[in-house]
Amino acid sequence: MAAPLAEIPKQERRYFSAQGFEKLGPPQPKDWLAEHKESGQTFAQFRQVTQARPTGKILYLRPVGAMGGQLEATRAYCEVFFQRPVKLLPELKPGKGRHDFFVKKYQLLASDLLERMVPDLPADGLAEVAVTNVDLYPSEDWSYVFGIAKPDKGVGVFSFARYDPKFFGQSRPADWEKLRLRRSSRVVAHETCHLFGMAHCIDYNCLMNGVNHLNELDSRSFFLCPVCLRKLRYRLGFDAGKRFEDLRNFCNKQGLQPESEWLGRKLAEKESP
Ligand SMILES: [Zn+2]
Ligand SMILES: [Zn+2]
Repeated sequence: MAAPLAEIPKQERRYFSAQGFEKLGPPQPKDWLAEHKESGQTFAQFRQVTQARPTGKILYLRPVGAMGGQLEATRAYCEVFFQRPVKLLPELKPGKGRHDFFVKKYQLLASDLLERMVPDLPADGLAEVAVTNVDLYPSEDWSYVFGIAKPDKGVGVFSFARYDPKFFGQSRPADWEKLRLRRSSRVVAHETCHLFGMAHCIDYNCLMNGVNHLNELDSRSFFLCPVCLRKLRYRLGFDAGKRFEDLRNFCNKQGLQPESEWLGRKLAEKESP
């Protein structure tokens, strides 16, 4: 990393090494960076983001419709990822929707959900994220959207519907629930980081890379590269070593073996002389 890690205590700096991260290669056709010109965001640029945002301590998670055990897994993941208490709010009523002619599924109007969330953010809220297993659409002339957010209000709504192979009429592999957990966790973390002013990463294979399709999502790191981790730490303030340990415990508990092993290697890294 070019800039010295001035704000990070010495004993914590080893967690900000680039070891274990690959530089991002040229995009494949249809990948995010093949279709969107992005110039990235340095740590210095991030620090200059001045848009007003909620400043409370607590991250609120809100289900829309039935979520089952997935909701608690998402809550637990956000708690370790952001190192903040994550509380569940009562279910947000589904509201406006339609039967989509093309996808032949029932969908909810994302902007309607978002509008109803804005006045509800509790005073101690840092952000409020609504999640649903129902597909979403942003407005009548669009077929679907994965999610939408209002960073200045600290709210976002995201759908997990398309992370289940069954949505596309495909059979579910034996470990499909882990696949869905990987995808939904990554997306909730990515979108919530946007709510904190973090832009897309173009340096490393990183959780903050923009993604255009599911294969691209599945090929991206489950973790924040050192530059993005530094931004999140700057915004929220946490002990990076404890965060890596908590993430490893979460991955162990959920049976996310490769991620847990990666974290083990990260925790074992020695301080560079
Ligand atoms: Zn994004
Ligand atoms: Zn990054």
